[in-house]
Amino acid sequence: MKHSFIEVDPESHFPIQNLPYGVFQPRSGGAPRIGVAIGEYVLDLSVLDDAGYFSQTSIAGKEVFQQPSLNKFMALGRTAWKEVRTIIQQVLSSEEPTLRDNEALRNVALLRQGDIDLLLPVQIGDYTDFYASKNHAENVGTMFRGKENALMPNWTHLPVGYHGRASSIVLSGTDVSRPQGQMKPSDATEPLFGPSLQLDFELELGWFIGPGNKQGEPIAIEQAEDQIFGLVLVNDWSARDIQAWEYQPLGPFLAKNFATSISPWVVPLDALEPFRIEGPLQDPEPLPYLRQHGKCSYDIHLEAYLEAEGINSQRISTSNFRYLYWSMAQQITHHTVGGCNLRPGDLLASGTISGPEKETRGCLLELTWRGTDPIILDNGVERVWLEDGDRLTITGWCQGDGYRIGFGDVTGRITSC
Ligand code: CA
Repeated sequence: MKHSFIEVDPESHFPIQNLPYGVFQPRSGGAPRIGVAIGEYVLDLSVLDDAGYFSQTSIAGKEVFQQPSLNKFMALGRTAWKEVRTIIQQVLSSEEPTLRDNEALRNVALLRQGDIDLLLPVQIGDYTDFYASKNHAENVGTMFRGKENALMPNWTHLPVGYHGRASSIVLSGTDVSRPQGQMKPSDATEPLFGPSLQLDFELELGWFIGPGNKQGEPIAIEQAEDQIFGLVLVNDWSARDIQAWEYQPLGPFLAKNFATSISPWVVPLDALEPFRIEGPLQDPEPLPYLRQHGKCSYDIHLEAYLEAEGINSQRISTSNFRYLYWSMAQQITHHTVGGCNLRPGDLLASGTISGPEKETRGCLLELTWRGTDPIILDNGVERVWLEDGDRLTITGWCQGDGYRIGFGDVTGRITSC
């Protein structure tokens, strides 16, 4: 097993096997630039680049790390990503002296995570949200349309999705203001306007697109994974009362476009390779353009925590990426099959990741069964929807033998509107 000369706790999310990318600014000043997380440190890649560490690679002279976003690096594609990752792992390894024994370089290249501010890692041009968990789609469909119509006839034939809103994607830690909108309670004869009273979270993972494709040139399923630069945790905040009134026939609009939170560290797809597993059996077999064989999913443990003001944070959901019915590659291929172009930095997200058991449900809508089965927090405090002052945090990791490939977390607190 690889070790770094930097000590990393076995439960740390950021061992040498992970090396997620982020955009940061030192608190002491200086322009935003790109680094990777290692234990409790950040390795400043712009410093390594200036010191010539990447001079023999395809990124030489391109200044991809002296940037306020990862877009330029992401656009270069998998070969460049692999070259860079190999060098960073080598530089940080316990056997390699060039950084380990160079105190002057260490002092400028390694910063404590407490001495930096993380920024949104990507300039996100377009955001697409899917609906790829069968358990989630069945549960929501049952609540909104009854058990007989739970899954729409198209659901097992194509990855259902909608075009989301990139402008309101915020970094973890940003407060989320309760949205206002129209809603029509079941006992009301006319719609009302006001603050949403059914504010929810959605536990999701998202992935950033690398080079992308030209308009009119779809991405074949065999090439789709090469487009995935890396993954982040996503909380796709949702206003269920607004959603229930507005969603037909074109899907959610204001119910979901007010805010989406993402975690700051982008975990490279290559770091997840040891945790590749088979996804759920797909029956009926998808059409040929969506057919994929072998291990198309990943074993990523996911948790959601709710913290009400003055009450201890409590785990309310334990899910896993493996529950997703449609794979990331299938979602990418379907997205582009009609000719739509994806661009570097586009974000695609999975939709709420729910499993078969009650505790694996990935949103309050399902966990409280549309408000009829409250969650009991400490001191007997009940929750069916998010209230002002509540904090929702999602975390996740792959558990290796003595190490974790972690995603850090995505957190946000609800404020009144
Ligand atoms: Ca969603």
